[in-house]
Amino acid sequence: MQLNLTEYLESEGKQKTMTVSYEKETLDLWPTPTALSEPFQMELTIQNLKKGEILIKGSGTLHCKAQCDRCLKDCDIEIPIDTEEIITDQMAKNAGDPENPGFLEGYEVDTDEMIEEAAAENFPTKILCKEDCKGICKVCGKDLNEGDCGCDQFVPDPRMAAIGEIFAKSQK
Ligand SMILES: [Zn+2]
Ligand SMILES: [Zn+2]
Repeated sequence: MQLNLTEYLESEGKQKTMTVSYEKETLDLWPTPTALSEPFQMELTIQNLKKGEILIKGSGTLHCKAQCDRCLKDCDIEIPIDTEEIITDQMAKNAGDPENPGFLEGYEVDTDEMIEEAAAENFPTKILCKEDCKGICKVCGKDLNEGDCGCDQFVPDPRMAAIGEIFAKSQK
């Protein structure tokens, strides 16, 4: 959604809270676009602080689909969206200034982009389907959350294996 800020920048004391929806079904994140598991809405407040200066604030919880890093199963994750920015008349005039937030385009705010920026910031670095996910067996690939597979999980030290090989050769 495109939101024009002109009247908020001009009218002292003006304040408005609204519900803003994310208009795409896939969260447009670089490098991995992520499908939403439910539609996202956030509460957005625009508040005039003084003439030519506003505070724009949004918050909500975004639910999206992801894959567990340990067991590789699909799971849902929650991403807190919290964004707060002061925008001045000068910033709006300097459209395209690299110092400006990416979602500000002249006097307009692109709310989808605002949500994407906040999501990118809070996207978890490690995705787990549950805190204590046991992952999959390195030998047979069984999901260890469903039970033990009985495989020998001992991984020989590669240096010891090399010594063993040399020893075996010298015995010939
Ligand atoms: Zn898992
Ligand atoms: Zn196994």
